[in-house]
Amino acid sequence: MLIIMTHEMPKLPYANNALEPVISQHTIDFHYGKHLQTYINNINNIIPGTEYENKDLTAIVASAPDGAIFNNAGQVLNHTLYFLQFSPKPVHKEAVGKLAEAIKHDFGSFDNFKKEFTAASVGLFGSGWTWLSADKDGKLHITKEANGSNPVRSGLIPLLGFDVWEHAYYLDYQNRRADHINALWSIIDWDAVGNRMK
Ligand code: MN
Repeated sequence: MLIIMTHEMPKLPYANNALEPVISQHTIDFHYGKHLQTYINNINNIIPGTEYENKDLTAIVASAPDGAIFNNAGQVLNHTLYFLQFSPKPVHKEAVGKLAEAIKHDFGSFDNFKKEFTAASVGLFGSGWTWLSADKDGKLHITKEANGSNPVRSGLIPLLGFDVWEHAYYLDYQNRRADHINALWSIIDWDAVGNRMK
């Protein structure tokens, strides 16, 4: 049987302009419509004939050596999780349920977690991502990932990711990365993020 493992664009659960003013339609059109589409095209073009052709995305990111396959697969995974973690009108203003309990346990309070995550995002040098992840025991970790890496590389389950590549915010915020990071908290879909813990 022919197995075709084609990596595809995630379908956004909101309109391209629905996250304004935090993320403009202009940014979504470029970041989702062009940057993510390019990463997806790239991975579909370079994996045929390699051992990664029939592997799922997470397995590729976890195991591919540094290079084009890892870079593009990492960015497909990163951006898929990223674009699916937002809501124009989140039901909850902060984490709920099991995730809320884990945040309180591991960071003292939601506000302190937010402070630490914001500081990691603002302070990341160059292009990369800040992730909140859970390990196999459910303990939470904040990590800074360079370029297109993802915490699955360290055996962690990624829950929440902030993209601090300039392409994520430059059209709307120019050099004001901290303003962008602070605004992102208002559009996080905490149900979607919490569901990733299982
Ligand atoms: Mn990006």
